[in-house]
Amino acid sequence: MNRKLPALFAALVMLALILWQFTAHPAVSTFSFAKADDGARKEIYLTFDDGPSDRVTPRILDILREEDVCATFFIVGQRAESRKYLIRREFDEGHTVAVHSYSHVYDEIYNSPESLIQDIEKCNKPIHEVTGSYSDVYRFPGGSFMVGKNLKEAVNKSGITYVDWNASFCDAELDSPTEKQLFDAAIKTAQGHSRVVMLAHDSTDRSTTADALRGVIRHFKEKGFVFRKF
Ligand SMILES: [Zn+2]
Repeated sequence: MNRKLPALFAALVMLALILWQFTAHPAVSTFSFAKADDGARKEIYLTFDDGPSDRVTPRILDILREEDVCATFFIVGQRAESRKYLIRREFDEGHTVAVHSYSHVYDEIYNSPESLIQDIEKCNKPIHEVTGSYSDVYRFPGGSFMVGKNLKEAVNKSGITYVDWNASFCDAELDSPTEKQLFDAAIKTAQGHSRVVMLAHDSTDRSTTADALRGVIRHFKEKGFVFRKF
């Protein structure tokens, strides 16, 4: 047998693995339920909406740093303007700072495609001031499920990728939840997904979310999930 064959075979396997990595799992993609569950690899995107807040965001950042995992923060621009130190920390510590809304007032932002794009651009200003670039990752307040086709088209046309979720701490729905309730909700809603996009909130009234976060991270680490950001 030709002695070069095993080496050639190994090189081909390596090439195939590299190609698979780049084609099957782009760093940023519009989230789709159909595509999320057919991959063999297990990955989780932790996402935090509605911050930054002086009370909760630093606690979440501490835990992410201690656990050495990355996340994506979908910020509210109005709150960020007076808390740029938190945007700076999110960015410096390797997380993605992305657009959620400037005002988060549904009646104003969803009034027309023009008002939506204006809101996104306004939210992007503090991000640009701190990070030096505008984010092209976006999450519709309430999720894309609740907006019309015209608004989604306007976002797509502006070159922005929007991201929904397929699992949640349910920290916006539950009334005064306990840490255990949030932990259980996060695990239960993620069941059956090999690509988990987890919704949580870092607004000022969500301190229990920070309480539950470490347990959730450790659960997914134990299950072999890789932590990713958009
Ligand atoms: Zn929100």
